[in-house]
This record gives sequence, C-alpha cells and structure tokens, in this order.
Amino acid sequence: MSLRLGQSGRGRSQHTVSFLIAFVITWQATGPAWAWGRLGHRVVAEFADRHLNPTVRAEIAQILEPGESLADASTWADENRTRIHGSGPWHFADVPLDEDRYDDRLAGSGQIVPKLREFRTILADRTRPPAARCQALRFVVHLVGDLHQPLHVGEHQDRGGNTLQIHFYRRKTSLHHLWDDLILEHRTRGEDRWVAELSAIDDPISRSAAMDGTIEDWATGSLHAAQQAYQNPRTGRRIEPGEVLEDAYYESNLPIVRRQLYLAGTRLAWVLTDALRPE
Ligand SMILES: [Zn+2]
Repeated sequence: MSLRLGQSGRGRSQHTVSFLIAFVITWQATGPAWAWGRLGHRVVAEFADRHLNPTVRAEIAQILEPGESLADASTWADENRTRIHGSGPWHFADVPLDEDRYDDRLAGSGQIVPKLREFRTILADRTRPPAARCQALRFVVHLVGDLHQPLHVGEHQDRGGNTLQIHFYRRKTSLHHLWDDLILEHRTRGEDRWVAELSAIDDPISRSAAMDGTIEDWATGSLHAAQQAYQNPRTGRRIEPGEVLEDAYYESNLPIVRRQLYLAGTRLAWVLTDALRPE
C-alpha cells in the first residue's frame, strides 16, 4: 500500500493518512492467522539458505524473480492467498489433538501435506514451465515452515487454536497467534538473532536426526508438539478459554518453538537440495 496525499488541502490529507494508519493497524491486529508470522517464516528460510550448496543456491536464484531472496519467497503464499483461489486449506491440517499420528484421512479440510508433496514434485521437474516452478518453490518454502508450526497440524475443534482466546501476560490473544508470533517476538524480533539461536543448537547429531522421516512423520512431530502447546504447565491441564499464560508457559514452550524452527530450516534445506540436485 502506498500513501498518496490528496490535493484538497492539509485537513483532508491528514484525515486520509489517519484513516489509512487506522486501517493498517486494524489489519495487523486482525490479520491472517494462517502461518508462522513473517518473522518465523523468514528465519526458517534464512537458516535453510545458509545450509545450501552454491549450485542449489544458484538454481534457486534462477527460479525466483531477480533480487527475490529465499526469505522473501517464504511469505509469498500468505501475501497472495486471496489471489490463489482455494489456497487457504493448503496451509494447515486439522488433526484432532488426541490422535497419535498424522494421517491424510484425519486432516479434515486441511491439505498441507498433500500440497507439499505436490509442490515438491513440480519443483523437481525441470520440464515444467518456469512460472509453475517459481510458484512451487515459494509454496515449498512456506509450507515446510507452516508444517512445523504445531497449531497448523493439531487442533481441538477451535481452528487450530484460532478461536481459543487466552491472555499472554497482559495481552489478549488467541493460542494460535501466540504460536505464530508472540512467543518468538517475546524472545526477540531480530531475524539475525533468531538465526543465531538456531545455529547454536545445530550440530551433526541434531542435523542427521532432523534429516530423517517422511513429510507425514514431520506432521506427526508437530501434532505431538501441539499436544504440549494445549497444556498449561502451571495446572497440568488443557488450557481453558480466558486463561492467563505467563513465564511458566513461555519458558517451557520457547525450546519447542526453537526446535520446530530448527527442524523446519534444516529440512527445508534438505528438501531443496534433493529437489534441485543436478541431473
Ligand atoms: Zn501459511
């Protein structure tokens, strides 16, 4: 959105600017709760980018628009979700919280796992048109991120925590938004600092453990993380609407957020390297 001041005098211009600022603030407050927020997606993509070899990185640069980084590409699917008709359910699965494992048949209307499989196949197919591979790459980067946000897989008849209203310290929010953004931001809003946090837990053993399993197994890992996300560590019970979550919740779930971002970034680098390996 660009701010264009009208020609009809200062009062009118101020009014227009105030309206636009109010609109932007309202949009941000109520904005799409369909993903890790922008910070989480960018961190996953930047961490992955550091683990790519130069050949794969060069091919990615060929596929994306000039100047578009992997981190830029990571939020494209959310920014264009209304333009890509029917793409809303591609960002999540709705697996009941009490299930043991992810299975496509348990995912409700959510299609994140089959869509990730489909886009990975398109990306790897060099006979596809460049525009199709570009869109596939943007979705792969985004959906690997979303798949590791626990509340994009597990849910308790509340749209993945979107309708479960809680307080995080003094702020009224939803459990979903808490996991998309607020736990991350409570730690730091700095992308580089988050990437450094992931690098600090990166070692050969963690990396080979991450680079294992199927997309379905990764979804199961998120489901298990969601089962913990719905627990209040202070009471030992499932979170009820209106509960206040503070230090105990933040401190027990920050390591899970960090681990899920690490897994997402490591696996994204793996998926891209595999899909774009030289013929
Ligand atoms: Zn998303």
